[in-house]
Amino acid sequence: MELLTLQKAELATFIATLLEERRVVAPVRRDGDLAFAAIATPDEAVLRYPNTRASVKAAFFPQVECMVRYERALDRYNEATSTPLDTTPTVLLGARPCDARSLLLLDGVFGQGQYLDPYYLARRENTVIVSLACDRPRQTCFCHWFGSGPYDATGSDVLLRDAGDAYVVEPVTDRGRALLAEFSLAPAGDATVARAEEIEEQAAARLTPVEPVEGIQDALDGLFDSPVWGEVAEKCLACGTCTYLCPECHCFNIEDRVLPASGERVRAWDSCMYPGFTVHASGHNPRPDQAARWRQRAMHKFDYLPRNVGLYGCVGCGRCVQACPVGLDIRAVLRSVRQAAAEAEAAAVAENTGE
Ligand code: SF4
Ligand code: SF4
Repeated sequence: MELLTLQKAELATFIATLLEERRVVAPVRRDGDLAFAAIATPDEAVLRYPNTRASVKAAFFPQVECMVRYERALDRYNEATSTPLDTTPTVLLGARPCDARSLLLLDGVFGQGQYLDPYYLARRENTVIVSLACDRPRQTCFCHWFGSGPYDATGSDVLLRDAGDAYVVEPVTDRGRALLAEFSLAPAGDATVARAEEIEEQAAARLTPVEPVEGIQDALDGLFDSPVWGEVAEKCLACGTCTYLCPECHCFNIEDRVLPASGERVRAWDSCMYPGFTVHASGHNPRPDQAARWRQRAMHKFDYLPRNVGLYGCVGCGRCVQACPVGLDIRAVLRSVRQAAAEAEAAAVAENTGE
């Protein structure tokens, strides 16, 4: 594997060079927190952090996005203009491996099958992802439950690993190699690689024990009418925080904003946690309570998406666990699902054997 070195003292020059011809999106300080945003100068990028509160999702799928604008005309048809696609060459710098990997699911949702999403794909195809391995996983991180980990390069074009005074730079894809070809980075020396491996081992030691998720689909299959959903959802406030911060949640609504002489059609993130998410025009709501909504959230992430896209709708970033105002923990939900499935199976066996 061709490993290179980027001295931290040269990081600002590296970013400044990127900024000459590209938009650079990186973690920045906003309102007392960290969020991904386009930077104007290298010193805005914050590359020493556990993880951002919001994921990288908005860099490809903005929270609110205008799709079509139109002018109202009284004497002819309204003239509508599609919003130009965003094809700005971009580098997404400093995403954690869980965020880089989360994009593979969004690729499957927005970039495969009969209906392709040009807005998402334009940004995705013009973005190089330079990730930063995670050397301080939190107690809420569980990427390793999914066979991944804080140093997983899957989904990244380039992976940076902390090595003290420098980063070890790992080109992962041809797109990443093409970007790095613009720089004269020296090969990584043995001492630098050894330091990076030492930090990686320390990161691995911080991880909580693995609870594999294999078999969770089968467990969910028999639980559609289970009381477990009422228990899970009992304290949920339906605030939607978990879905907005989640890198994998991607539901949206489309609405027209009508102005006196013009208008626009926008799409905006929506949330399956909201009571109004599934309300029909008749007033009927097929998911009438929070139990039904939480069932949908769990089933979508761990049953329907694996069937439809081949990937779980969760990368274990832990954001929803960190931010939920009532401490609802999706890891505990998975445990409850397993327990409910085991109890249902035991009850079925007892019924069949007459015990
Ligand atoms: S963040 Fe917590 S309270 Fe809010 S909708 Fe999600 S699970 Fe419910
Ligand atoms: S469900 Fe929670 S832990 Fe999983 S990817 Fe979404 S925010 Fe992260």
